[in-house]
Amino acid sequence: MAVSEKTIAKLKILADAAKYDASCASSGSKKRDSRDGKGVGSIEGMGICHAYAPDGRCISLLKVLLTNSCIFDCAYCINRASSGVERARFTPQEVADLTVEFYKRNYIEGLFLSSGIIRSPDYTMEQIVEVARILREEHDFGGYMHLKTIPEASPELIEAAGRHADRVSINIELPTANSLKKLAPEKDRGGIEDAMAGLKDAIEAHKREKTLRAKPKLFAPGGQSTQMIVGADKEDDAQVLTTATDLYDKHRLRRVYYSAFSPIPDSKPGMPVNKPPLIREHRLYQADWLTRFYGFRRDEIISTMDGGMLDLAADPKLIWALKNQGFFPIDVNSATKEELLRIPGVGTKGVEKILAARRFGRLRYDDLTRVAASVRKIRPFVTALDWTPTSLLESGALEARMKKPAEQQDLFAAAA
Ligand code: SF4
Repeated sequence: MAVSEKTIAKLKILADAAKYDASCASSGSKKRDSRDGKGVGSIEGMGICHAYAPDGRCISLLKVLLTNSCIFDCAYCINRASSGVERARFTPQEVADLTVEFYKRNYIEGLFLSSGIIRSPDYTMEQIVEVARILREEHDFGGYMHLKTIPEASPELIEAAGRHADRVSINIELPTANSLKKLAPEKDRGGIEDAMAGLKDAIEAHKREKTLRAKPKLFAPGGQSTQMIVGADKEDDAQVLTTATDLYDKHRLRRVYYSAFSPIPDSKPGMPVNKPPLIREHRLYQADWLTRFYGFRRDEIISTMDGGMLDLAADPKLIWALKNQGFFPIDVNSATKEELLRIPGVGTKGVEKILAARRFGRLRYDDLTRVAASVRKIRPFVTALDWTPTSLLESGALEARMKKPAEQQDLFAAAA
């Protein structure tokens, strides 16, 4: 089936509009500025994005909106009712056909679908669920599906989305209820969290069912995620991370995606005209990682006492190490897993490698090349059989040496 010119024209608008949603993009991907007018014609602009499936595979998704028309008027959103952007709308059948067509051509391995609110939250949710139903029931579509759900829709419709989707998400939108009230008055933080709680219950109920039935029905096996816009209002990083930690704890979210506010044309008075530095978004992801996988408490990484903002100059793990120099050097041959996880430049995989290697003998300096991307970075923090750092840690020279320009400090690269 050839994709018609009309469909391509709509796709250009609706894929371009979808790129502002960070919920299925990996951190550090090519970034967005709503005012630049670019995107259409590029791969991302035509709706192909890369995301990580629950099993860790990087997959290509058709990332598109059902429509960029919306009856709500959230001040930070380019698709808001009062925005002057060109509008378009797909029917559920059109999105399903496009997905199947791109899937058959091997362009994509799945679909990320979101939408502005058409007529009412329930009506919109019905349309999203209908896309999923056509794909799963009529086309027997086995690809990955991430559906954005509308928190104001009825719980039955949100649950119906979960029955078809691999992952579902509900956007928390902004770090505090006050900001939400100010910038998105039609939305309600309590309602959003109620919807998340309902999804958590449904996901956990289906997980229990999995252990009881031979052929359990799937329900969002990839869990739920959310997106928080950063820099649209005055919240600091401490507030952003506090909200994220609460959401992980309360609703068992798989991911909180941080999306640096993207300035929009014809924005409402009072909205920022500049976007926050993208490195701020990256530092938030790093801090998020540290609290979830490295055993750091939020208040160890950031506190309102420090001004509430993460240091943009280096990754928060290194900043913590520089503030806690008495904790180092760590003996890689005897330290606990929790202690090893605190070494800047050593990721979770590196720690596993150290623990595995220790079963066969004591580690020397040269062995560290197998556990860290850069031995130079980690050597001031560790001792090994034939290595003890000099007094760099005390001299203050370390701080100057390690605080390289922001792009050179990358926790994720170190974790590889
Ligand atoms: S409801 Fe969603 S699409 Fe509509 S204006 Fe608000 S953020 Fe934008």
